Amino acid sequence: MKKKRRKIRYGRLAFCILVLVGLAVLICFAAKGCISLLRNDEKTDTKPKSQTSDEYSQQDIQAERIPVETEYCFDYEDITFTEEIDAAAYDCVLKNNEDIGKGNLILVNNDYQFAFTGTEEADYLQLNLHSDDTYYVKDNTVLVNEILIEPLNEMLDDFYAVKGRQINVISGYRSFEYQMQLYAEDLELTGLDYSTLVALPGSSEHHTGLALDFGILNNGEYYSYDGIGDESWINENCHNYGFILRYLENKEDLTHIQYESWHFRYIGEVHAFIVNYYNMCFEEYINMLRAYEFGKRHLGIRTPNGDYEVYYVPSGVEQTEVFVPKNREYEISGNNVDGFIVTVALS
Ligand SMILES: [Zn+2]
Repeated sequence: MKKKRRKIRYGRLAFCILVLVGLAVLICFAAKGCISLLRNDEKTDTKPKSQTSDEYSQQDIQAERIPVETEYCFDYEDITFTEEIDAAAYDCVLKNNEDIGKGNLILVNNDYQFAFTGTEEADYLQLNLHSDDTYYVKDNTVLVNEILIEPLNEMLDDFYAVKGRQINVISGYRSFEYQMQLYAEDLELTGLDYSTLVALPGSSEHHTGLALDFGILNNGEYYSYDGIGDESWINENCHNYGFILRYLENKEDLTHIQYESWHFRYIGEVHAFIVNYYNMCFEEYINMLRAYEFGKRHLGIRTPNGDYEVYYVPSGVEQTEVFVPKNREYEISGNNVDGFIVTVALS
């Protein structure tokens, strides 16, 4: 009998322990849930506010809010210098105000004109001397910024390999005078006093040498590039080579230029990836990046070719101190609006 009683007590004890363990596990889960909820709240609260300048509010550009976590885009939170910059980890690069108008991320439109240096024609290269034979170049007047030649060759080589078709590059750099001529011709054609097809002289992306117009040359006949059929391969894949279709169909109210299926702009692979992913126009992207100010919160970008960190540095009065990491590869570009964009390779 005694033995039996003892057995029953042990059973009860075991049952009680099980219940207590169960309760403890439940409490732990509940607490964890609360903490993660709190963390999410904190995250929402500390999310960077879009810093809208006067220029931008005049333009009424509403940048699409970038999600904090997606497959490809995340807030890069490994930033510990909100109060004081860790000087040991960063170098300071001094930039002059005129540098805001230089680099692959310069926004050029009717509000932000291209800052000519006067040496463009000497600086840019004749595309036909550097192009692969998988595509045509209209003639030796097509000048481009050197940085787009290699990615352009790669893109059009791949297009030829996949579709067996050859693009004709019909326009690259344009001078102020040539753009003035094109603008006047368009006004004459439409009878209007403004153009929605040709940018104002000084406001054309073609001044930068980073924009290209495509056409089709087939059996000696010239056709327009409409971006459909075989050509859609380029429109769908151009971001992998650093190009974006600049004037999108649904963004005319922001670009003030109608949809152009043939006009491509080089901004670099990392940025083209994000612009394409969020289906933004370049105006929206430049505005969005201004919310990722150095030392506050940086944008992380996960591309198929590696992770990158991107931040914005507002320009100073005459000069700007741009902090760049000592031990990582980086690029600095002006945005042609009010500051600089730094792109850092993380992996
Ligand atoms: Zn164009």
